Amino acid sequence: MTTTAKVEESLFQNRYLLDADTPHIRIRDPEICVTSCATKQCAVCCPAGCYTVEGGKVMLTTDGCLECGTCRVVCDTHINVEWEYPRSGYGIQYKFG
Ligand code: SF4
Ligand code: SF4
Repeated sequence: MTTTAKVEESLFQNRYLLDADTPHIRIRDPEICVTSCATKQCAVCCPAGCYTVEGGKVMLTTDGCLECGTCRVVCDTHINVEWEYPRSGYGIQYKFG
């Protein structure tokens, strides 16, 4: 028998410990996102929905980040994502490996 699961259901299985005082990802210059990045590919590509666009501004919430590094890679024109792994003990805890 084959079972299927939605991505959202699988992500819900993970646990995340937020390091509120020291976010491990930062947008270097938010103004560049507004004025120079029409495509805002970080918001399109992040599988965890950490980036949202509101009124042309890009908001980043690292809660739930999967540490995949996609946002750093896709921001290749403006190099505007400062990225590192969370401090020890914080971040994603994968339930299934
Ligand atoms: S891809 Fe980079 S420059 Fe564009 S909106 Fe996202 S963080 Fe800003
Ligand atoms: S590392 Fe991956 S999950 Fe985390 S904010 Fe970037 S694209 Fe989203």
